[in-house]
Amino acid sequence: MTGNDILYLVIPCYNEEAVLHETAKQLLVKMNSMFDRGMISRESKIMFVNDGSRDKTWEIIRELHESNPIYSGVKLSRNKGHQNALLAGLMTAKEKADMAISLDADLQDDVDVIDKMVEKYYEGNDVVYGVRSARDTDTFFKKFTAEGFYKIMQAMGVEIVFNHADYRLMSKRALEGLSEFREVNLFLRGIVPLIGYKSDIVTYERHERFAGESKYPLKKMLAFATDGITSFSIKPIRMITTCGFLIFAISLIMLIYFLVVHFMGRTVHGWTSTIVSIWAIGGLQLLAIGIVGEYIGKIYLETKARPKYIIETVLDK
Ligand code: UDP
Ligand code: MG
Repeated sequence: MTGNDILYLVIPCYNEEAVLHETAKQLLVKMNSMFDRGMISRESKIMFVNDGSRDKTWEIIRELHESNPIYSGVKLSRNKGHQNALLAGLMTAKEKADMAISLDADLQDDVDVIDKMVEKYYEGNDVVYGVRSARDTDTFFKKFTAEGFYKIMQAMGVEIVFNHADYRLMSKRALEGLSEFREVNLFLRGIVPLIGYKSDIVTYERHERFAGESKYPLKKMLAFATDGITSFSIKPIRMITTCGFLIFAISLIMLIYFLVVHFMGRTVHGWTSTIVSIWAIGGLQLLAIGIVGEYIGKIYLETKARPKYIIETVLDK
């Protein structure tokens, strides 16, 4: 499938001097091959977003831009984290691009599926998710935590594409949809499915980082996961309510038992009243916290001011 739409590759970079030259080279080869096959417009760009790097990343991006205008750069005023850097790039790309693909600077995501993503875009998909087929290159620990994370997210009722990170194509109108989400705690892979429109997936194998080291240590990974759950789900609050309700219900059953023991005189003085209050008050308190939490959850969802709908087409003659 061919076309003449403008593609922007958006690549967030944080202290990536070790990989940038190689990444730029490989992506250029890819872009050129797509130009030659008439798949994308020659106005397409490779856009690097410098997320407040402390090494030579920005200098390299500037040199690249000077050597060939296909490379463009966006510099954030300071380090804002992967998700924010990505959003900054996508929102900048949105102005000129018909479609944008986000990928990591270390090329762990297989660049050869870019073609397939673009093909699926021409087939009428507004979002194309890159999904990892295997996790052979991951350590057992990373695989276990990552897959566990997707399972927990799904259990919490968050619509999320299994084994999809942030390697995806989005059309201009999907990007416009994304810009309507005003939330500060960004968890893009949870937001994108909420935008809607026709979507598809392409599978790929993830490589190992060819140079430099991961910018996602365990601490950041855990913070990211917590953020993902709490930004999309108020189920943890519901769990408190359920727990409180259960304990209170159990306390009523226990009350009968305590009274029986009491009247049979098999207890020490004061035991019954003490134990009853521990159970009943404990349960009631949890229940009360849960109810208060329900309202806080509502306020939380309201303050996000998410778009209530996004119109795809209107038929009106
Ligand atoms: N990154 C970023 N800002 C940060 C941390 C990471 O822009 O604060 C970028 C980083 O340069 C890379 C991508 O996010 O392009 C993914 O990071 P990394 O490859 O280190 O994560 P991993 O693949 O180990 O999960
Ligand atoms: Mg990586």
